[in-house]
Amino acid sequence: MYVLILTGGIGSGKSTVARHLERRGAIRLDLDRLASEVRGQAGVVEGLVAAFGGCILTSEGKVDATSLAKAAFVDEEHTLQLNAIMHPAIERALERRLVDVGSSCAPVPLVVVEVPLLTSADGYRRLADEVMTVSAPETLRAARVVARGMAEPDVHRRMAQQMGDDERAALADVVVSNDQGLEVLLGQVDTWFDARMAAGWAPRRHPGAGAGR
Ligand code: ATP
Repeated sequence: MYVLILTGGIGSGKSTVARHLERRGAIRLDLDRLASEVRGQAGVVEGLVAAFGGCILTSEGKVDATSLAKAAFVDEEHTLQLNAIMHPAIERALERRLVDVGSSCAPVPLVVVEVPLLTSADGYRRLADEVMTVSAPETLRAARVVARGMAEPDVHRRMAQQMGDDERAALADVVVSNDQGLEVLLGQVDTWFDARMAAGWAPRRHPGAGAGR
């Protein structure tokens, strides 16, 4: 089973690519959903409360994602603290989920894991055979997200918090460019898919070669 991490900035076209791969037989794993499951684990809840205080809990004692984001994304130090608690737990959850998918009766050739905010420090890169990033000029990404309904200042605020396409490309094994129509984007994805399939989905397990490994 070949594992692809798919990353890209806001509005780059990650979901469009993931949906296309799904149509070709891939299973899609949602890292946000895994993160939400992980926020319910007792050890993680304790760690988060120790770091950010009881104000991140709901009246039922569950971690409230919005309150957590408010407390954690105030500065880099707090963000790193959050990542240090969440990322190893997400990595373990992803590893377990990949084992589950890999041991299902119907063979799965490809699993796509969308990781919008992938960084060089993320341990889950070791679980992937390849990292693909979708890139597109910021103006185009902004226009697409605004057309989808987000206010333009919010889009630019989100973009300012994310790394740029060059930095993201350095973490990736393959870059697909989404600066033209959908058929051009999906054509690149099909070329990639067909090449991996022709190679029998041979494992690689050295993702992010561009990051200097
Ligand atoms: P987000 O990070 O905000 O979830 P994303 O990276 O998953 O975004 P998509 O949701 O796939 O990106 O694409 C953003 C929007 O741009 C969608 O409305 C999608 O239909 C549209 N879009 C993507 N690629 C193209 C393209 N090549 N031409 C026209 N529209 C496109």
